[in-house]
Amino acid sequence: MWRAAAVRTLRGARSGAGALRAASGAAAAQLRRRLESELEDIRGAGTWKSERVIASRQGPHLRLADGGAGIINFCANNYLGLSSHPEVIRAAVEALEKFGAGLSSVRFICGTQSIHKDLEEKIARFHQREDAILYASCFDANADWEISVRWYTEQRMVLSVWHGQALLTPEDAVLSDELNHASIIDGIRLCKANKYRYRHMDMQDLEAKLKEAQKHRLRLVATDGAFSMDGDIAPLREICQLAQKYDALVFIDECHATGFLGPNGRGTDELLGVMDKVTIINSTLGKALGGAAGHPGVPCPILSPPSAGGYTTGPKPLIDLLRQRSRPYLFSNSLPPAVVGCASKALDLLMESNAIAQSMAAKTQRFRSKMTAAGFTISGKDHPICPVMLGDARLASVMAEDMLNRGIYVIGFSYPVVPKGKARIRVQISAVHSDEDIDRCVEAFTQVGRKHGALP
Ligand code: PLP
Repeated sequence: MWRAAAVRTLRGARSGAGALRAASGAAAAQLRRRLESELEDIRGAGTWKSERVIASRQGPHLRLADGGAGIINFCANNYLGLSSHPEVIRAAVEALEKFGAGLSSVRFICGTQSIHKDLEEKIARFHQREDAILYASCFDANADWEISVRWYTEQRMVLSVWHGQALLTPEDAVLSDELNHASIIDGIRLCKANKYRYRHMDMQDLEAKLKEAQKHRLRLVATDGAFSMDGDIAPLREICQLAQKYDALVFIDECHATGFLGPNGRGTDELLGVMDKVTIINSTLGKALGGAAGHPGVPCPILSPPSAGGYTTGPKPLIDLLRQRSRPYLFSNSLPPAVVGCASKALDLLMESNAIAQSMAAKTQRFRSKMTAAGFTISGKDHPICPVMLGDARLASVMAEDMLNRGIYVIGFSYPVVPKGKARIRVQISAVHSDEDIDRCVEAFTQVGRKHGALP
């Protein structure tokens, strides 16, 4: 009988190279109907996310697979332009040649190379923290709140020993800004601490929640350093003051700040002068620090690593504990050498000079002031995320489409990604945009805005 089945399978396989196979049976058919109906609902709700296919490297100018060429790209997180920086790419090639394509292992079995240790040390030095741990992505780093919260308890136990106090129980609380990134929200959902959500950057509300949370033994305030949809920066000074007043710890997600905010690009904590008040930082290698440097311009398919790379940096005992217990760290492959090489070189460049970050800041300023003079409202302040506020979802979508017709690649965001009535087109400035690119973008916005009634 098994022979008959094998022959059938073989015949099936021969019936056409690359033929598609669909599972048969009632359950598979039912699943397919359910999935198709859900997909139809997404289309019907107007929230379908389509993906434009890029046929060139990431950078200020793109070629799209459907033929569009010379498109100016204003929607990548490539703030410093390092994802196509020649030295970053060379570092990836060297790491690839010396250390191979990948580790085929998690870190604690046989997946730790000298470059992983070097990069962790460099990240900690960059942020002026005791230690750092690499993750496959910042999403993974953010997913591990349970350990972080458990560590606070253990830290408190250590402190309590130092201070001769009674041992504390693991009854913790996390206080989270309502507009925090999805990965923080998911991480908090996974952890067992008591959860409080405060209104976006509303210090009165945070204080009220901190008062309410006094009944718990430990409090952790969690916030994005810079918010990706609004380009606004968390009031970290006030948050740290409240944290001190109500005996809480502070965690920041620095994905949209690392490498360029602050006098030396260390991030929001440096910008606002609270580097010694923030306990834990999570960030990504996949935005300003080289965009993971999956680099299609190099004729080597391996140089498109599957992961972005992320990290946690903070007190050594926390990092030690994460290495022992963190599930996304323990049960996921080590970062590929090419990604490590890119990030390491990106950090070297940023530690040598902040010229790239300054160039990005000047271009951000040029875009924001010209757009405001043209009559647009730009959310946030001094951040390369420049949301052009339009309000109406349809307007944001048709304007973004029309911008692309004029060679400017921007994306419209509407509910549920942003609140109802607050649709916008998000523009992201990079150090590698030229002044001419910026001016062309402003000019296109002005024409398209007039055409669709967003400007008088
Ligand atoms: N946190 C924030 C604020 C982000 O914007 C992102 C990425 O979009 C992440 C975390 C996840 O980062 P990664 O791409 O490294 O998983």
